[in-house]
Amino acid sequence: MRVLVTGGAGFIGSHLCDALAARGDQVFVLDDLSTGRFQNIEHLPGVECIIDTCLNQEIVRDLVREVDVVYHLAATVGVQLVVNHPIQTIVNNIRGTEVVLEETCRYRRRLLITSTSEVYGKGSREVFGEEDDRVIGPTHRHRWCYAASKAIDEFLALAYWFEKRHPVVIVRLFNTVGPRQMGRYGMVIPNLVEQALRNEPLTVFGDGKQTRCFTNVTDVVPALVKLMDRKDINGEVYNIGSTQSVSIEDLAKRIAEKTGSTSELVFVPYDQAYGPGYEDMRHRAPCLEKIHQAIGYAPSSSLDQILDLIIAEKRTQLNPA
Ligand code: UDP
Repeated sequence: MRVLVTGGAGFIGSHLCDALAARGDQVFVLDDLSTGRFQNIEHLPGVECIIDTCLNQEIVRDLVREVDVVYHLAATVGVQLVVNHPIQTIVNNIRGTEVVLEETCRYRRRLLITSTSEVYGKGSREVFGEEDDRVIGPTHRHRWCYAASKAIDEFLALAYWFEKRHPVVIVRLFNTVGPRQMGRYGMVIPNLVEQALRNEPLTVFGDGKQTRCFTNVTDVVPALVKLMDRKDINGEVYNIGSTQSVSIEDLAKRIAEKTGSTSELVFVPYDQAYGPGYEDMRHRAPCLEKIHQAIGYAPSSSLDQILDLIIAEKRTQLNPA
């Protein structure tokens, strides 16, 4: 297979490229290296990397024509980046996906789009199912532009399936973590692990009682590939995540313990962390029934296993041999 991965030099994209290259696919990457890094894919000699954005329609058209299927992961992600750069977030995420949809539809290339659990917003359900209502905050709170932009991507993709029978499948990823993820854009686990290894204070935002379920990227990637391979699945949305819930306070304590760090926890008000008026989700956990039924998905990594992996990676980065 010839495969295009947009955002292929990013954290999740590069792990996907590893898996595709390992099974013998010819992989093309389109990445503007805004949050992605060439180092993430340079160990894959067969991969061709084009450094540009999905907003460049001619480039996207040329690439799409060359391949059999497209994974669209390129997006502006990370809470810190989103609140600091809402224009970039909205334009990249909406226009970028629009271009990818137009071109994959033109050449009838099967498309998988990665969306996000953020689209569920701040609803208070125990678990979020694909058909549940969404509760999104007001437009003057920049955080919500990410959820709104990804929801528009989903609407547009589903409209392409509905009106043009363009074969497309959507996944909503819940807090994916793994090697190569950077703390710089706000992602909590790499951030706290880096702080712990430097014996700096562990920044717990808000009261730390908010909960998340963290998924190993090695559980996510095979699910993406399986869904792409299931050509009978179109116009559907799937959650991908884990159901092992942890509060951010407990997460920070666990990281301190595992790293043997002398770091203390500091509770940082949201306003200080992300600017005035920031709203967080209290609890976020996926219902995984639909994806389990479709492809037999079940997450296999525990939170402890995930933390051990990240700690080992960050240790090596801080103290290279
Ligand atoms: N968070 C934190 N300290 C940090 C970074 C994040 O307490 O240094 C919190 C953040 O406010 C959120 C949770 O950890 O409640 C997960 O944050 P992340 O940005 O990783 O993902 P989100 O679930 O917000 O998309």
